[in-house]
Formats: sequence, C-alpha cells, structure tokens
Amino acid sequence: MSERRSMKAKLGGNVFKPDRERHINIKPGFEKDARLKAALFVCPAGLYSLNEEDEVVLDIDGCLECGTCRIACGTEVLDWNYPNGEAGVQFRFG
Ligand code: SF4
Repeated sequence: MSERRSMKAKLGGNVFKPDRERHINIKPGFEKDARLKAALFVCPAGLYSLNEEDEVVLDIDGCLECGTCRIACGTEVLDWNYPNGEAGVQFRFG
C-alpha cells in the first residue's frame, strides 16, 4: 500500500530551470490594484504576497505555469507568458 504524500511534499519534488527573464510580471502601476489581490489566494504555489507598502509582489521561483493567476486577475494587471524553451517547471510525479 502506497503512502500518501502532502501537496507540499509533491511540489517539492519538481525541478525548476531558471529563465533569463521573468515570465510573469505585475504591470507597473497595478501593484495595489484590487484585481491583483485575488492572486494572494489562488496561486497554488503561494508565490504572491503583500509587501510593507501593501503592494502585491510576485516571487517567480517555483511557478507551476498553471495560469490560475492569469485567469483570476486578468491580463490588464498581469503580463503573463510561458517561460522560454527549456526553462521553467519540470513536474516529478510520485
Ligand atoms: Fe502561481 Fe500558477 Fe500564477 Fe505560477 S501561473 S504564479 S503557480 S498561479
């Protein structure tokens, strides 16, 4: 019988290859936009947070390229692209 692993443990097995540029960016001037606040709750990797100025910030390391933030917040506030070839997440299932 296989042992159940937590989501955090499963995500920890993934491999991330850094890109030469960030593939998702918050558009300048939208850091406090209400639409962006949804990302704080929907990103499965927890990469969005608030800084001391109450601005939403994104730590791109560990992005699963799921597109949830793009759908939840919209492209008016996010510049969202897939990483360049060979870069980004490599999923490890187990
Ligand atoms: Fe988070 Fe998915 Fe957006 Fe990456 S694409 S920042 S994992 S919600």
